[in-house]
Amino acid sequence: MAAVATTGAEKNFTTSTITDLDSSSYDSGTGVTTLDVANLVGDWDGADRLNNGKLAVGGNEYTIDDMYNTTGDETLDVQGDLYGAGVREGNTCTFYDDDYSGSGTYNIVLPIRQSLNMMRRLMFQKAYIEPVNLSSAYEDTVPFELHFGKISDISGLTPDVTGSSGFWTVMVMNAYQPEAANDEDPESESATGGLSIVYDIADNPDKCAIYHETGGEMGNTMHHYMVHEIGHTQNIGKRWPLATHCSDVACIMADGAPGNDFCDKHKSALRKRSTW
Ligand SMILES: [Zn+2]
Ligand SMILES: [Zn+2]
Repeated sequence: MAAVATTGAEKNFTTSTITDLDSSSYDSGTGVTTLDVANLVGDWDGADRLNNGKLAVGGNEYTIDDMYNTTGDETLDVQGDLYGAGVREGNTCTFYDDDYSGSGTYNIVLPIRQSLNMMRRLMFQKAYIEPVNLSSAYEDTVPFELHFGKISDISGLTPDVTGSSGFWTVMVMNAYQPEAANDEDPESESATGGLSIVYDIADNPDKCAIYHETGGEMGNTMHHYMVHEIGHTQNIGKRWPLATHCSDVACIMADGAPGNDFCDKHKSALRKRSTW
């Protein structure tokens, strides 16, 4: 797997043309330029879709404060004096949404890896389960999908190790972001941190996905999502599509995986799992 795709339906940016920009577009009081660009289409065409994202034009990147008036040409408020920097009507520009990368770039390099760290392993140990991270020799890479949200995306994957009565296995897919209508772009949109496969589709190994881009946007750690989703695979908390979460807001099985531990009820449920 290589860098995030830059062509085709999986590309993670879009281009347009500046259609309305002149010397009066810049407000020196606020430091913001209000400009229009040619109509964007598909998932990109919506109010607030590009808020906090970037507009790249003329060799510079500008932060987008607001995207509005999205009927026909898009109107945007952008930080900085674009006209003063030489940007003109007719210039081609590129838009990136507010994707998180952690490396200061909007072109996220894959694969993304994540193992359970000591603190999160401790959560399972309290339920008498010893988590073991397998080595990278057991990792597989799959073709990049910008929106990895269907349960069939996971159920079709085949891991190297399956469990037995002596040990259980869970395969975790480190995914980029959920489906387009559920990826927090714009930020008013709902988003999912992870996904677990339902019990009766496959239970050996259990399979789940965690979404790094969504987690980054929501300020959560992937370790938390991993514990939460692995918990779902062990049949605690209802699993997708029956997403009923723990009512104890301190439990990691509550909605959004807020806690630092399993609640007593869920520790007990994990301890009672004696057979595969
Ligand atoms: Zn959940
Ligand atoms: Zn709980």
